[in-house]
Amino acid sequence: MQLHDPYDNNNIFAQILRGESPSTRVYEDDMTLAFMDIMPVTPGHVLVIPKSPATNLLYLDPEYARAMITTTQIVGRAVQKAIEAPGFAIVQLNAAAAGQTVFHIHTHIIPRFHGLELQIHSRVRADNDELESIARKIRAQL
Ligand code: 5GP
Repeated sequence: MQLHDPYDNNNIFAQILRGESPSTRVYEDDMTLAFMDIMPVTPGHVLVIPKSPATNLLYLDPEYARAMITTTQIVGRAVQKAIEAPGFAIVQLNAAAAGQTVFHIHTHIIPRFHGLELQIHSRVRADNDELESIARKIRAQL
């Protein structure tokens, strides 16, 4: 592990946090933000990020790590109810070698169904109205 976090302030999630790029938000508190993944693996795929600059888990302040997990729990419960999914996966990738593509730490909340294989990424960009309609259902369960 490098001692110095090579965090890039211009990554897309930093821009979303600053409100410079749009996102479909479902939950926010002082330490975290949750919003719809723009290329969902399944409907209801949400990302949770801490409001602290950290490239990956190794660089994240433990207070923010706790907050990120608490929010993942709150939003995960709402996603499961909103999507009527029997389960959900929490995925968190650290470094490019692990498949990480956006270098601001985040957890994926991915609804899971019996018999449907787990994929972590999709390349299909969701329709904004569709994302908003699912986000509305999730917000209603919070
Ligand atoms: P990673 O590969 O880093 O674990 O996951 C990054 C995730 O961010 C991917 O699932 C990708 O679809 C999502 N993503 C990439 N760019 C954007 C964006 O601009 N907005 C949103 N909402 N999600 C994004």
